[in-house]
Amino acid sequence: MLRFVARLGVVTLIAIAMSVALTVGLATLFGFTPDHVTLIIAATCPLVISLTLGGYLQRQSDRLRLLNDDLREAHARLSYLARHDGLTGVLNHAGFYAAVDDVRRQGGALLLADADHFKQLNDHHGHAAGDRALQALARSMAAAAGPDALLGRVGGEEFAIYLPANSAEEAAAIAERVRLAVAETAVALPAGAQTRLTVSVGGATDDPALPFAETFRRADACLYEAKRAGRNRAILPVAA
Ligand code: GH3
Ligand code: MG
Ligand code: MG
Repeated sequence: MLRFVARLGVVTLIAIAMSVALTVGLATLFGFTPDHVTLIIAATCPLVISLTLGGYLQRQSDRLRLLNDDLREAHARLSYLARHDGLTGVLNHAGFYAAVDDVRRQGGALLLADADHFKQLNDHHGHAAGDRALQALARSMAAAAGPDALLGRVGGEEFAIYLPANSAEEAAAIAERVRLAVAETAVALPAGAQTRLTVSVGGATDDPALPFAETFRRADACLYEAKRAGRNRAILPVAA
């Protein structure tokens, strides 16, 4: 603001000087000497015009700055929404893949966790209860996986967890911790009732030299195995 006032002052002084000089110059050219009133008018006109225009420009620039701030905020919000799941707040499919891409240079492990018999919960208690269950599921998995893990919802009731720089043993322990955390979480149902949910977890260590799709395929095969073996279990092969 101070800079603007200083700049406006300089511009106004230049405008006044030019106006007075022009008036004197033109008067001399036409062969008369400008009187005091003429000189006062020559100085006042640019003063009034400059201050009026300056005020207007300042208001416009304030408005533009506010609009720019709004735009920046909207852009940040939109790019957050583009990468996160609206229901659970965890990363969405695209957000999860992008985040994994950023960290997998160091290697790590992938867990795929799929809610068991989730369709039954929807069928018996309604879709809204199912939605709340997915939110509870995401919360307990995020807490169990720890702050370094990336958690994404990669399918309807399927979540993926990327554990950066984790060995197979550590990843298998975290997979078990996630499974237990979900099994111990009470899920609210309509009319104050509660139920429990379980997840089946399949995991695989991630070799950054290979395509991530390959790691995903191996984790998915273990998830399938966990389902086939009776659900509510975590399978992640650890080399002997
Ligand atoms: P499984 O143990 O074999 O995984 O059985 P499942 O019932 O969990 O699997 P299935 O694929 O048969 O059903 C998944 C269900 O998840 C069906 C679908 O309606 C439900 N689902 C997917 N996304 C949402 C969602 O956003 N909200 C709710 N409430 N349900 C969802
Ligand atoms: Mg399921
Ligand atoms: Mg599924």
